[in-house]
Amino acid sequence: MRIDIISIFPEMFEGPFSHSIIKRAVDKRLVDIHVHQLRDYSKDKHKKVDDYAFSGGAGMVMMIEPIADCIEKLKKERKYDEIIYTSPDGELLDQPIANSMSLLNNIIILCGHYKGIDERIREHFVTREISIGNYVLSGGELAAAVLTDTMVRLIPGVLGNETSALSDSFQNNLVAPPVYTRPRNFRGWEVPEILLSGNEKLIEEWKYERSVERTKQRRPEIYNKLEK
Ligand code: SAH
Repeated sequence: MRIDIISIFPEMFEGPFSHSIIKRAVDKRLVDIHVHQLRDYSKDKHKKVDDYAFSGGAGMVMMIEPIADCIEKLKKERKYDEIIYTSPDGELLDQPIANSMSLLNNIIILCGHYKGIDERIREHFVTREISIGNYVLSGGELAAAVLTDTMVRLIPGVLGNETSALSDSFQNNLVAPPVYTRPRNFRGWEVPEILLSGNEKLIEEWKYERSVERTKQRRPEIYNKLEK
């Protein structure tokens, strides 16, 4: 998978992309991530990429030309499956969206700032709009990093144990069961006895029941989708 990110703050990705699972995926060449500085596509001598909104009002708008030039340059080099704009009014990101997007070959993620981007970019270039939640961020970079992380960990071969992504929350419409590690007893707080029993079948049943119970309590809207 190749991910091209367009941003005015490429440095914001250095932290999230140079550690842990994303770093491992990049090192193993299972994902190829390129972050493009949008200002490099500005024709202005001060590298300006924003301007006042027509109609007035507070806040600047990201201009159409630099974004169009950057997207068109990338599109000349390869075919893209999706051109994604991170936007608070986009589709709410969830695990099924992450699953399907992790199967794509080439995507562009466009990060907005200020009051957003000129609407004509959304109409003529963007193919999908994704929100990471019903709140407003200052820019699209954190959303792009969240989207990248959730897709990349699903690419086959990225997680050490292939099954571990499958046992995470939201796969199969269930949240994950509680987990424990050593010590068995901390201040009298014991690990559930069954997990120490060595009986695989009973342990699996216990985990499934806890998952169902938690989903019912915490995510009833997901529980209602479960095939029962
Ligand atoms: N005026 C816009 C908000 C702009 S916030 C509005 O009211 O909808 C600046 C940028 O941050 C946006 O262009 C978008 O790229 C990004 N952003 C903000 N909140 C986001 C969210 N919840 N999910 C994804 N991207 C978001």
